[in-house]
Amino acid sequence: ELANRMAERVADVVKALMKMGMMVTQNQPIDADTAELIVEEFGHRIQRVSDADVEDVIAGVEDSEADLQSRPPVITIMGHVDHGKTSLLDSIRNANVTAGEAGGITQHIGAYQVKTESGAVLTFLDTPGHAAFTSMRSRGAQVTDIVVLVVAADDSVMPQTIEAINHSKAAGVPMIVAINKCDKPAADPMKVRTELLQHEVVVEAMSGEVQDVEVSAKTGKGLDELLEAIALQAEILELKANPDRAAEGAVIEAQLDVGRGPVATVLVQKGTLRQGDIFVVGEQWGKVRALVDDKGERVAEAGPSVPVEVLGLNGTPEAGDVLNVVETEAQAREIAEYRSNLAKEKRAAAGAATTLEQLMQKAKDDKNVAELPILVKADVQGSAEAIVQAMEKIGNDEVRVRVLHYGVGAITDTDVGLAEASGAPIMGFNVRANASARNTANQKGVEIRYYSVIYDLVDDVKAAASGLLSNEI
Ligand code: GDP
Repeated sequence: ELANRMAERVADVVKALMKMGMMVTQNQPIDADTAELIVEEFGHRIQRVSDADVEDVIAGVEDSEADLQSRPPVITIMGHVDHGKTSLLDSIRNANVTAGEAGGITQHIGAYQVKTESGAVLTFLDTPGHAAFTSMRSRGAQVTDIVVLVVAADDSVMPQTIEAINHSKAAGVPMIVAINKCDKPAADPMKVRTELLQHEVVVEAMSGEVQDVEVSAKTGKGLDELLEAIALQAEILELKANPDRAAEGAVIEAQLDVGRGPVATVLVQKGTLRQGDIFVVGEQWGKVRALVDDKGERVAEAGPSVPVEVLGLNGTPEAGDVLNVVETEAQAREIAEYRSNLAKEKRAAAGAATTLEQLMQKAKDDKNVAELPILVKADVQGSAEAIVQAMEKIGNDEVRVRVLHYGVGAITDTDVGLAEASGAPIMGFNVRANASARNTANQKGVEIRYYSVIYDLVDDVKAAASGLLSNEI
């Protein structure tokens, strides 16, 4: 394409690229900066018609102060297991289902919005837990404005409570403490407040700055107060976004739906996402065919802090991927392809490094530790992470499981390639391999196993690991 536009021979362009140390074939996309160098090298005039990545496309779109309007806060609930995160999310949501919707289906799309009594709108991420929070952050998507730290009044501060405190501090996200299960006779809210002091969380009741509210997810006591506390915190933060620009958002959840194809729940962060918009999201692109809100209703558009299900993707993105609306389909396609090639190269490099590293590790360990490499593909990010966590627990000083790669969506040729290079089986959880991947796997002798129950998957890997143990040692 580049050679064509310069009216130069393809072979010459490829040669010039190789001289620059880039081993490319004639159909491989190159980044805009490299293309510029080549154009200069050949003595042509540069005119940028489209760019390699979104950063270039949207560069220069700065929101001026006057364009900014206040937006709802986005809240993540964290805390120790069994302290009532899920119950709290459910009761906040149910208390807010208006009469008209009562009995209607509550749609779980990964986030929902509620209105407080004083009229403030709040967006809750419906995936409690730290994995979601950290994996989003590690992928560069900072979506949470406020953390609600749930601590059970009958159990007080526990390891995951401390972990949650550390996470929100590291992310610089303000915290509100919800002291839950206050309906229980054994509840001791003061003990919670005192123990929090040891972790440098000084709540208001202890003359500190962190708001604390006594609640019961079971009886509903204190929930309104909690929502107002959140609204107050949001006011202090003065959260703003420009609704009148090309939309940008973060993927909260994504899955391959049998009937609807790839579906992603996107939390819009800037601009307004509309039906018909063309977008790129991670390595995927698409055109918004429909938007579905948290009540399961079709909507025409979604502004800042609004979560919506997006239909019309050409593939399944990953949680934490950023969505950007672009102008043309060609642009979207080009960016997605560019990113996907880049990722492929990275994976190939990682694959080679892994085998090398494994060899060295094996030599270093003097054959004492055997490794069972596996690849995991699942229908949703949450399941993939749960499986990886379970895998990491399997093993002892003689054998361990190594997850080479995990991801969301159908098993593809890329997965099979990586698995083959490392002699790993592919574990599919609620996903299938596409036809081409099935063929390649057959040819190369890569094993693909399908599961719909996490325990079954874990049991099989355990069995394989112990097999490795008895065979090799
Ligand atoms: P999570 O693991 O933090 O999501 O906790 P869950 O929401 O699953 O709650 C764990 C257990 O505590 C469940 O059996 C809930 O019914 C119970 N529970 C949650 N909140 C309350 C509460 O306010 N009062 C009482 N008595 N039990 C609660």
